Amino acid sequence: MKLTVIGQWGGYPKQNEASSGYLLSHNGFHMLLDCGSAVLSQLQNYLVPEELDAVILSHYHPDHTADIGVLQHALLIQKFLGKTHGTLPIYAHNEDLQGFDMLNYKDITKGCAYNPEGTLNVGPFSIRFLKTKHPVPCYAMRMEVDGKSLVYTADSAFLEEFVPFAEGADVLLCECNFYGDMDGSGAGHMTSLDAGRLAKESGSSRLILTHLPHFGDITQLSKEAGSIYKGPVQLAEKGLILEV
Ligand SMILES: [Zn+2]
Repeated sequence: MKLTVIGQWGGYPKQNEASSGYLLSHNGFHMLLDCGSAVLSQLQNYLVPEELDAVILSHYHPDHTADIGVLQHALLIQKFLGKTHGTLPIYAHNEDLQGFDMLNYKDITKGCAYNPEGTLNVGPFSIRFLKTKHPVPCYAMRMEVDGKSLVYTADSAFLEEFVPFAEGADVLLCECNFYGDMDGSGAGHMTSLDAGRLAKESGSSRLILTHLPHFGDITQLSKEAGSIYKGPVQLAEKGLILEV
């Protein structure tokens, strides 16, 4: 599968960039993972919105969902213009009914509740879930296709349960909203050292830090994670494309 980073900022987007959004593609199937602020704009560097086959959301914080409404508008306008497409499924948990309801829009998009206890198959992707430690219900995801795996922590404080969940991941896309000398647990986020520890203990092949903070020198985050995890570490950045 191919991973394209659309946006990597926590909380809000930096100028001309986006908050959380990742495009996963395999054999012509395109799935958007989270849809934060400015994702719709940045996404169009790679494909037009009507080329999306599915969207999946980890939770309903605005830095992961803010552009759902404008994605719906884009698809509505393209439909008026005669571009054909069916109803776009948006997979999400339904533990926030107000948030979940917003995923239904005319015949343009449809909310599809995932069962976090089960395995969800979307196009070529097989997806499992883990509830994270965050102020609102949020799910990490393990995506597998053709024997390759990408684990996305979504937003969370460190959890021991992440270690077996991420075991042997080819790519660990790990949130990292705080520096190593800070404590993210109260805010429901991880530090660089938490991310390094998770990558090491899960035996992941590669660590990508994302949901990045708006303060400090972010290059420090990968150095700190690399003090624990000896595999390749890099910061997510707009336009980063990886073959998993
Ligand atoms: Zn959040």
